[in-house]
Amino acid sequence: MDSSNEQRKDWHDYKAMERDAKREGVGENGTRAKLDGSTRDLENKLFAKNIFNALLSDYISVNRSVPDIRPKECKKKLYLKKLPLVSIIICFFNEHRSVLLRSVHSLVNRTPPELLKEIILVDDFSDLEALHESLDEYVALHFKKVRVLRLAQRAGLIRARMEGARNATAEVLVFMDSHVEAGYNWLPPLLEPIALNNRTVICPIIDRIFYHTFRYKRVFGVRGGFMWDLYYTNVPRLPEDMKFPWKPFKNPMMMGGIFAIFSNYFWELGGYDEGLDIYGGEQFELSFKIWMCGGEIYDAPCSRVGHIQRVPHLHLYKRNNSPSSQKDFLHKNYKRVAEVWMDDYKKYLYQRNKTVYDRIDPGDLTKQRALRSKLKCNSFRWYLHNVAFDVVNRYPPIEPPDYAHGVIQNLGNPKLCVFSVDFRTKPVGLNNCDGNLEHPHYSQYWKLTWHRDLRLREPSY
Ligand code: UDP
Ligand code: MN
Repeated sequence: MDSSNEQRKDWHDYKAMERDAKREGVGENGTRAKLDGSTRDLENKLFAKNIFNALLSDYISVNRSVPDIRPKECKKKLYLKKLPLVSIIICFFNEHRSVLLRSVHSLVNRTPPELLKEIILVDDFSDLEALHESLDEYVALHFKKVRVLRLAQRAGLIRARMEGARNATAEVLVFMDSHVEAGYNWLPPLLEPIALNNRTVICPIIDRIFYHTFRYKRVFGVRGGFMWDLYYTNVPRLPEDMKFPWKPFKNPMMMGGIFAIFSNYFWELGGYDEGLDIYGGEQFELSFKIWMCGGEIYDAPCSRVGHIQRVPHLHLYKRNNSPSSQKDFLHKNYKRVAEVWMDDYKKYLYQRNKTVYDRIDPGDLTKQRALRSKLKCNSFRWYLHNVAFDVVNRYPPIEPPDYAHGVIQNLGNPKLCVFSVDFRTKPVGLNNCDGNLEHPHYSQYWKLTWHRDLRLREPSY
């Protein structure tokens, strides 16, 4: 394709940006919002159901404006005049209605209509009344290109995305979460790299929307990675990527489920592994697969999508009344990914939680293994050395020993020790020291790692 500058244009919708700049009200321009306290009980109740301030969301316009926090070069950038059309796929399970609607409005408001073929809302068998007929009515009344696809039973986010993808008709698929807000001119920077190379998968920078206040905060952008228990983590951008902060940079691991991919390429890769249940592991599966089988993943700093990032919320997805084999979907998913993609390195995952992994059956992997050999993919070792080299340096499979471990004792009163039941979400406290000071109960079992950071010994997710 000829990619000279005559072939490019300015895709900004300046009229819409001016309109947005004039908006006033709660949370406009992505500012921090707050309720007056008279509805505290309801606020708390809805918070517990969503792990974000759902009541506050109802007071913020579904059309609210967001700040333009892109690197300044992005504001002048031209992109190809001829870009492929997109189908946007949003799966949701019991998403709070105003949050879901804000996601859709922001996408419709900030996507050039000539590039948008459709938005498919995949309802993963939600039981919230507000997401049933009245949602269909709202959609019919407000949008032309949005449709709701209802699944007949709970499929989990991976199979729900696959259902959405099967129903999509545009050349490019864009996957989104159901609690997002698109930024100005977010789409062209994702589409151009795909138009130039169909095997490029490209993610926006996922900015943070605070779950208590809905404040929109710029995230600088990092290279994604993982620890060996398959906990997503990140590492700094490479020095050469920092020279041009606006330029798409290679990313070893996508952060979650927000990205654009050429539809034919998605299917060539077999889509997601449909044996992955409910939640978790899918970004590892897809990222390993893309990199190992000849594709590339980039993050585009000129494309911004805000996302409500929550503290651990997996309890919202627990299935009731399901056989115990289906309950631990997270570890089962990880084992599937490891068995198919991680070669001998899978042992480092299993070592970190032996009792759990020993008894998990990953299910039938014939299809996934056949795909890997059909696509003649590289080894996991190749991926670690060529793509995720900096990630493994920081998080090596065999961790150097900790400097120290055991309780942290109070000098003033040596009977008291620092404890935490869930250090990611709750403040630490003091309580009576465990009898064994070197190998105490896990809530008091701290380690000073070789990174010289202090952590509870077992990650508590
Ligand atoms: N989701 C779904 N079915 C499920 C679990 C999740 O459709 O069984 C949807 C959820 O509503 C959200 C997306 O999948 O739009 C990703 O889930 P979540 O936001 O909880 O993941 P996170 O972004 O926190 O990793
Ligand atoms: Mn999410």
